[in-house]
Amino acid sequence: MPVAYVRVYAELNDKLPPELRYISFPHTFEGSCSVAECLSTCGVSSSLVDLILLNGESVGFAAAMRDGDRLSVYPVFESFDITREQHLRPKPLRVPRFVLDVHLGKLAVHLRMLGFDALYRSDSGDDELAGAAATGGRVLLSKDRRLLARPEILRGYVVRENEPRLQLAEVGYRFDLGSSISPFTRCFRCNIVLAAVSKEEILDSLPPNVRESFDEFCRCPGCGRNYWKGSHYQRMVEFIDEFLRRVEIMKVAAGEG
Ligand SMILES: [Zn+2]
Repeated sequence: MPVAYVRVYAELNDKLPPELRYISFPHTFEGSCSVAECLSTCGVSSSLVDLILLNGESVGFAAAMRDGDRLSVYPVFESFDITREQHLRPKPLRVPRFVLDVHLGKLAVHLRMLGFDALYRSDSGDDELAGAAATGGRVLLSKDRRLLARPEILRGYVVRENEPRLQLAEVGYRFDLGSSISPFTRCFRCNIVLAAVSKEEILDSLPPNVRESFDEFCRCPGCGRNYWKGSHYQRMVEFIDEFLRRVEIMKVAAGEG
């Protein structure tokens, strides 16, 4: 019978029988077996999985397993430091969505500027944050280790840096966000995705100089704020360049560049 060797990482081990945790264990199967079938047999829910490596190559759930294959399975994100091995993953399978604690408001705005879904409210309580992380499939970013230690939170990360731009680079590096940015697509205030809007529709609400100089506009369906590529646009381009540069430097420092 074909046999593959399976290793799951971090909190995914909680789903395994104790004798299979934190080791590479054999998984025998008849005929053919997909990664999804293998995970299901092992009791690991695919909703918790972010990255699958089959013989070192990133694959999807439908990939077929063969005799002698080595399967490594990683959770969406860990609530502790990512080891070097785990961090060598290719582009994430899914772009993470975040929820941030009350101390990380500027980081939330920065993440939104880069197009990431970053839920934040200045009055969120711990239960609300934990709920968004547990049921909303979001990664909880926090400076509070006790909050992240709550058992219902599967996806959390302790932010170490204190300065928002450095926090952004830290999170960008940890979650490999550099290849997934989508700037100017989300409202800084509301976290809502912007919609294109014609100049005619919003003409009356535009300052005269903007009316004369710009033709492309987006609008936030939440707060109604209009966006255009004005003087702030160039500053944002520089901001994004700086972010990408910092992440690159961190990769090089970690030996991954
Ligand atoms: Zn808005």
